[in-house]
Amino acid sequence: MQRMDRLRVSIAEARELVLAQSPVLATVMVALADAVWCVLAEAVVAGEDVPPFANSAVDGYAVIAADLAAGSARLPVVGEVAAGAAATRRLGPGEAIRIMTGAPMPDGADAVVMVENTERLEGGQRVQINVAASPGQAIRGAGDDILVGAVVFEAGTVIRPAVAGVLASINARSIAVTPRARIAVMSTGDELVADGSALAPGQIRESNKTMLLALVAEAGAIAVDFGVVRDDETALEETLRRAADDCDAIVTSGGVSMGDYDVVKAVLSRIAAMQWMEVAIKPAKPFAFGRLINSARRPIPVFGLPGNPVSSLVSFELLARPALLQMMGHRESLLRPAVRAVADTRLRRSTDGKIHYQRVNGRFAEDGRYHVTAGGPQGSHQLAATAVASALAELPDGNGVEQGEDVTVYVLAF
Ligand code: AMP
Ligand code: MG
Repeated sequence: MQRMDRLRVSIAEARELVLAQSPVLATVMVALADAVWCVLAEAVVAGEDVPPFANSAVDGYAVIAADLAAGSARLPVVGEVAAGAAATRRLGPGEAIRIMTGAPMPDGADAVVMVENTERLEGGQRVQINVAASPGQAIRGAGDDILVGAVVFEAGTVIRPAVAGVLASINARSIAVTPRARIAVMSTGDELVADGSALAPGQIRESNKTMLLALVAEAGAIAVDFGVVRDDETALEETLRRAADDCDAIVTSGGVSMGDYDVVKAVLSRIAAMQWMEVAIKPAKPFAFGRLINSARRPIPVFGLPGNPVSSLVSFELLARPALLQMMGHRESLLRPAVRAVADTRLRRSTDGKIHYQRVNGRFAEDGRYHVTAGGPQGSHQLAATAVASALAELPDGNGVEQGEDVTVYVLAF
């Protein structure tokens, strides 16, 4: 098989290339309940005031503040209004109306005195109020959270749970969002066993697909399992084409490195417009990205991740995940949060022209800063230590970071 011409790129160049060809998915309208964690595709304008009417912030008595100018008063209770009801009469001077939290303010009243500052008299016929009041006290005005006509959220806002709550409060029932992407995940390799059967000589357990499906789901996309594909050109082409017709992007693991017999390279080079890369990072040097035109003539991004499990993870984190987030409408935070951390142990490396991403364990210490220590074994096949690491430390070319020095880390899990 011919040796592929590989593009030598920095991680920044590789990411730029990937992001430039991973367009935002087309906007869809979804019911509010299905919109949570999606990104707003359009700004939302309030169609209603929130709250819709002036109401009481406390349980107490609606009064006219001027009636309490003396600091106390004994007033007849001329009515009662609960949340969901409306006052049946106007409050006149020298009168009080019993009112509950959220109940509409009776006409004529300009303040509410909380029940804790009152004494119920004569079975509720009258009330003794022992404080003064100022106009507007304990009243929540109409629209004082959201005014009708106001832009409540800009396009690009992530619909976190409280955002969904606000959308419900303005009766936004159908929301224009960028949908969750459907992501096909497949692993490749004749050595992989995924069905629990005994390992024949040379075989290993499949693990990347399990991890990648979970990473895709964690990113908020819909992970679709396309299984383990044998190193067989026909089978691989068939699976890739099926995935391209069913999904918005494809993530493969294996077969993108310099190995001699790589069916993945042969098939993807033939059926998709691929860029084979050597990214100047360690781990995860080999990486492929391209677009496969599906039967609807739509270009489907393909992320060819390396097979070594740690490389697969790092490649996903640094290159695939940002692109999937962008496809789903995210504009910021495409990378995991970057923290300027303190290295509590030396993070050793040697000069090789690459950026190294070492797995480290981190925590916030009493000084308020994030402190990291070297993770376990750093081999690209040693997923066990990486699996429980909390961050990827970014070590520029050189000898690493001395104990006590600062280092930038990308936090995978706080
Ligand atoms: P490859 O990138 O296909 O040359 O594979 C590189 C290394 O990763 C080899 O040791 C493979 O056996 C291993 N590998 C490839 N795919 C997987 C997978 N899905 N799960 C676990 N290990 C894998
Ligand atoms: Mg392979």
